[in-house]
Amino acid sequence: MERDPRKLVVVTGAGGFIGGHLVAELLLRGHKRIRAVDIKPLGRWYQEHDGVENVSADLREKEACYAASEGASYVFNLAADMGGMGFIETHKADCMVSVLINTNMLLAARDLGVGHFLFGSSACVYNGERQADPDVTALKEADAYPALPEDGYGWEKLFSERMCRHFMEDYGVSVRMPRFHNVYGPRGTYDGGREKAPAAICRKVIQAQLDDTGVIEIWGDGLQTRSFTYIDDTVDGMLRIMEQEVSEPINLGSSQLVTINELVDIVEGIAGVKLERQYRLDAPQGVRGRNSDNTLILQKLGWEPSIPLEVGLERTYNWVFEQMTSGVRDEAAAIFT
Ligand code: NAD
Repeated sequence: MERDPRKLVVVTGAGGFIGGHLVAELLLRGHKRIRAVDIKPLGRWYQEHDGVENVSADLREKEACYAASEGASYVFNLAADMGGMGFIETHKADCMVSVLINTNMLLAARDLGVGHFLFGSSACVYNGERQADPDVTALKEADAYPALPEDGYGWEKLFSERMCRHFMEDYGVSVRMPRFHNVYGPRGTYDGGREKAPAAICRKVIQAQLDDTGVIEIWGDGLQTRSFTYIDDTVDGMLRIMEQEVSEPINLGSSQLVTINELVDIVEGIAGVKLERQYRLDAPQGVRGRNSDNTLILQKLGWEPSIPLEVGLERTYNWVFEQMTSGVRDEAAAIFT
């Protein structure tokens, strides 16, 4: 991405996890004009940066999307009403309402001549039937069709990807569609109902130590498999994808596959504890197995996420530990009307 000081970069969902890290990296890379937008009131963002135009606005509203996109050369559209499996399995309608954000942001990009528009898509677009076995075949981009994505959240993502494609074909909007795979790291949700597995496991391991219970509750039988992508790789990959002519959906995910039990092993190792595992088989679990096939990203960018889970989890664990022991609470869940 050009570091032209006159070019405005807009990040939506900037008060959230990925958006906050992206704004930090854009600043580090010398971008001078950044507009950061989120529905959360200022003061409740995970990261609020100086030298940035920080705007609190509801991007379900068309006018707010036009105001947010005015003058933008690059838009990173990351705003969505979302969370981990505990949230998306119980808030399908809310997840689908994010289509208003994506529709209005695309209309604004078309009408205001935004240079490049990136939509934060998800591995939840993939056909569930290809994810029924923990012994996975990694998902390549074409595996999203025939469509049978995650109910609610995944359908919205797949629809919005398709809308991006048609805005490119019919109106010439330059689009990018990375499919994020389970992003984790510090400064994200770890409590309150929207958290995802890595942060949730860190929190539970820490809580078990603080309360001296010796026990951890695990959702499912622990044998389900996933790959988890550290936030720095996600931000780096997003910026690379924005720079290149990659206008089709593309996996942006680690291919280091682990079971949830192995994820817990790593966090226990970091904490130096061994806990008794109690498996909750009725809890939300998502698909049985999922990994990222990185053939396309390697071919297009000559790059793929590479930060080992052990390294990323240690940083995440340390941050969650600090939060939990410093009296600050994660209030991210309580903002929506
Ligand atoms: P997040 O919940 O931390 O951030 C999303 C932000 O969007 C929140 O701060 C929220 O307040 C904001 N938002 C929601 N509704 C809004 C509205 N109407 N107007 C303005 N802002 C609004 O989530 P994240 O992990 O940072 O995810 C960012 C994007 O990446 C989302 O589109 C998400 O679907 C996608 N994604 C994330 C992951 C992951 O593992 N974190 C995986 C796949 C896709």
